[in-house]
Amino acid sequence: MNYKGTRDASISTTAAQAIVQGISKDGGLFVPETLPQYSHADLSAMKNLSYVQRAARILRDFLPEFSEEEILECVSAAYAADKFSGGHPAPVVPVNNASVPMNVLELWHGPTCAFKDMALQLLPHLLTHSLRKTKCEKTAVILVATSGDTGKAALEGFKDVDRTKILVFYPENGVSPMQKHQMNTQEGENVCVCAIEGNFDDAQTGVKKIFVDPSVSDTLHQNGMLFSSANSINWGRLLPQIVYYFSAYCDLMAQGVLTEEGQKINVVVPTGNFGNILAAYYAKKMGVPIHKLVCASNANNVLTEFLNTGVYDRNREFHATISPSMDILISSNLERLLYDITGEDADKVADWMGQLSATGRYQVDADTLAKLKDLFCAAYCDDATTKETIRETFRDAKYLCDTHTAVAVNVYQQYVRKTGDTTPTVVVSTASPYKFADAVLSAVSDSYDNTISEFEKVQALARATNTQIPAPIAGLAEKPVRFSNVCEKDSMSSFLLQMLHLK
Ligand SMILES: *Cc1c(COP(=O)(O)O)cnc(C)c1O
Repeated sequence: MNYKGTRDASISTTAAQAIVQGISKDGGLFVPETLPQYSHADLSAMKNLSYVQRAARILRDFLPEFSEEEILECVSAAYAADKFSGGHPAPVVPVNNASVPMNVLELWHGPTCAFKDMALQLLPHLLTHSLRKTKCEKTAVILVATSGDTGKAALEGFKDVDRTKILVFYPENGVSPMQKHQMNTQEGENVCVCAIEGNFDDAQTGVKKIFVDPSVSDTLHQNGMLFSSANSINWGRLLPQIVYYFSAYCDLMAQGVLTEEGQKINVVVPTGNFGNILAAYYAKKMGVPIHKLVCASNANNVLTEFLNTGVYDRNREFHATISPSMDILISSNLERLLYDITGEDADKVADWMGQLSATGRYQVDADTLAKLKDLFCAAYCDDATTKETIRETFRDAKYLCDTHTAVAVNVYQQYVRKTGDTTPTVVVSTASPYKFADAVLSAVSDSYDNTISEFEKVQALARATNTQIPAPIAGLAEKPVRFSNVCEKDSMSSFLLQMLHLK
């Protein structure tokens, strides 16, 4: 199977090349030429497999130049028991005594307690194999600009991975105390972290500038290195996410929630860059019986409007919310969906994306809107409602969820109220509540005290809810700080060259 570009139909590249390159030269994204199909018999056969085996089964159809042994090696290393606690990287937990019953797919049992681990634990293995397959002898230098979750997950994923180095830039005053501590205590010989004097946009712009600066690339090339990206538009980050929708369906069959052949489920996803929900869409196209894909947003509701009206308009106020990983106004992965539902019309997609970058707005045609509405439902909720949902879900169902998951829970409740749909539903849970302890504590505790430290809030949350602090967060307070670098936003490339000992 080869991969093609969403803005140029003539592009054809191998899976390994798509993963090494990350993004197509014309700015388009790589997508598989065809989607492999799975029958009910295939799903039934997967029911009794482990998560690692399920992942290997699906990956092999997308990575033809990888041998079965290589794929098994990659997924076994990624989802090893010392990385994902509890014996299942993506368990489905029934939450039944709430006003609206649901099945919560917990994707945060990895080393950084957020769902980005599901992809970023696997991507480094796929990338190093891909480098070898494309006969590239160079060391990959991964540059990341982060507003919090991605940076830490990428550091954990790439730590001590052969032939890679990783440098993460974050805005000095733009991440939570927990996220800052998670990054600055990062272990590994090939990792580096640097705060910049600026906001997230400055960090992102700085990284993009370094990527396209020929003098920096040349210096790297001459020294046996090349840039690579761990960004969520890399196909190697999307592919691992398709797996857990298959896995959730298999688990629901095994749990007896699904009893009939081809029985449908709904999937509700708290959405930012549209990667997670796009993976659910691909799973549906590949044969997982999914009825509705429910797209949940916070106050940055650009996707809610788009999926309901066909107008994408990023010209709006940006809201800093308590679900910060969904504070996004340009959802990059939407491009892959549009390419698919327009019948792979690369010219149309290129035109809309051109309008988006020129004016911040585009409108799809009536036919495309009808298809979107058939596949998706979309709604949003604000911070106050998010906290209220955390409080009620804990009170009524004894289930503690984080701020991102709570947005999905609330939007699902809105959906059921509006439609009366009783299809069994998977609500995707993307972070541990302990990662956003401040907001979660203030939602569930009557004696919330804002003046205590982040780690004290973690302890207070455990006491107030009688739940377990995940090991990676419990151990964090004792970890020594390894990085305290700060640089000006205009000095990012010279910081990089220093770190690589090229200056
Ligand atoms: C990244 C992230 C999201 C958004 O996922 P997308 O794939 O960007 O839509 C939601 N919740 C959490 C906790 C995240 O870290």
